[in-house]
Amino acid sequence: MISGKNYIGSKVSANGERTFHTFNPKSNQITAWTFYEASSTEIDEAVDLAEKAFQEYKQFSGVKKAGFLRAIAEEIENLGNELIETYTQESGLPEGRALGERGRTMGQLNAFATLLEEGSWTDATIDTALPERTPIPKEDIRKMLVPIGPIVVFGSSNFPFAFSTAGGDTASALAAGCPVIVKSHPMHAGTGELVASAIIKAAERTGMPDGVFSNLNSSGIEVGERLVTHPKVKGVGFTGSIRGGTALYNLGTQRKEPIPVFAEMGSVNPVILLPSALEGKKDHWASQYANSITLGSGQFCTNPGLLIGLKGKALDNFLSTLGEQLSLLDPSSMLHPNIHENYEKGRKEISSHEKVSVVAEFGKELPPNYGRQQLLTVSGKDFLENPVMHQEVFGPLSLVVQCTDEEELTNILHSLEGQLTGTILGDEPEIKKYEKVVDALKSKVGRIIFNSVPTGVEVCPSMFHGGPFPATTDSRFSSVGASAIIRWVRPVCFQNWPQSMLPAELQNDNPLGIMRKVNGTFTSNPI
Ligand code: NAP
Repeated sequence: MISGKNYIGSKVSANGERTFHTFNPKSNQITAWTFYEASSTEIDEAVDLAEKAFQEYKQFSGVKKAGFLRAIAEEIENLGNELIETYTQESGLPEGRALGERGRTMGQLNAFATLLEEGSWTDATIDTALPERTPIPKEDIRKMLVPIGPIVVFGSSNFPFAFSTAGGDTASALAAGCPVIVKSHPMHAGTGELVASAIIKAAERTGMPDGVFSNLNSSGIEVGERLVTHPKVKGVGFTGSIRGGTALYNLGTQRKEPIPVFAEMGSVNPVILLPSALEGKKDHWASQYANSITLGSGQFCTNPGLLIGLKGKALDNFLSTLGEQLSLLDPSSMLHPNIHENYEKGRKEISSHEKVSVVAEFGKELPPNYGRQQLLTVSGKDFLENPVMHQEVFGPLSLVVQCTDEEELTNILHSLEGQLTGTILGDEPEIKKYEKVVDALKSKVGRIIFNSVPTGVEVCPSMFHGGPFPATTDSRFSSVGASAIIRWVRPVCFQNWPQSMLPAELQNDNPLGIMRKVNGTFTSNPI
């Protein structure tokens, strides 16, 4: 049952003056729910409670926190159809996507639980004392990772489950031992509230301190600004626009006590089309890419927005096949009228540029808020001279750049900003001849893909979802997979510390039985 209120830990609260509604982009109508914008008092209460909860939560064992994460996954599933229906109403996305994303979100929570139960993620490193060493004896030194404190998570618009209330940022921060305050995304506040109620239920069921999680509603930037600048907040996770992410990064890093702001933002995800891919597998790649460009109405951070090939007959043929396939696919509703409006504005700007030609687009009338797919093309020279064409147009649009030779293609890659992904299509003997292209691509991206599509981010320990600015604000960290936890911890070194006072992870008898690095060797044996 959606109340529209804020969760300050387990307390349900609504003392703010402003209210707002969510919107069903498919029916083009507001939903039935009213949401209460969090007030300054509620924000302060949530942060104070999180800070208090942190003192207890940070001491909990991995097994206890794992129980909490698994309970969240169960409680999300227990929400049943109400959750799925709210998601589809507030996002316009189909039920199949809602079910798939819910499964992924529960899978992420369970994967972090497994990581905690296994325990070696804390990077326990021990160098025992060498009292006989000359001329200076060496003392006992031990190091491990500890949580940094309350984290603010901004729900994203394009993943109402997997990158929102109980998404990867929240799951990884809770796994690390950090309480979380979610600034719910205003486009799916009802979905957010239901998921928040599941987290609160799970917290109560598994004996977590009140305030380990709070959920605040907001449809303006003030709530987010106050949270990021609050002295008791110690880190921020964000997925969204470059403008929003950069503004929050500046706020977080310019505080009296600067804090890390991990923002995942825009990306055009360049795809290099080598001649062999277009000659031998033209139809296959045209079909794969038509689907990838239009998947979720193009509203994925890994959407292939830029295809780059070598001018010639093979590229011409590929373009016309891709254009045909693309215009046959049925468009779908975008997430919100604002996102649709942004898309239409960006699409019209780039497609009306005098140097850009339209290859294909969906030609029929569309209902309101539906994303019209479009394929555009430009020469390598004009692309290089117009950096405005390098920017993401969030939606089902792709620009194909036609280069005169390998040198121009390499120069184009060097001219791009940082990206989440880069892809090369071709065969193995051919790719070996394009060493400079591969090298240029590698220097720009967080994930380099061979003969596949960039959409569809597998959640597994070896995944890296990040990249050089502006793909993210810190290219060293991933927001997907087990390593996402590292964003919310810092190392602490214990020098010459009594055994009885050391954390279990660092004690000689290794009571948790975890893998540790002892005097340079990985082992789970006691010392
Ligand atoms: P957004 O504008 O970046 O907003 C994301 C969240 O951050 C919202 O909760 C928003 O609050 C908050 N926020 C934004 N700017 C802020 C600021 N200066 N200070 C404090 N809080 C701030 O993204 P969006 O609403 O999801 O969509 C807008 C556009 O972002 C899209 O059209 C698309 O171009 C882009 N986008 C890109 C990706 C990607 O993966 N590349 C993903 C999503 C969106 P309020 O909404 O309450 O103001």
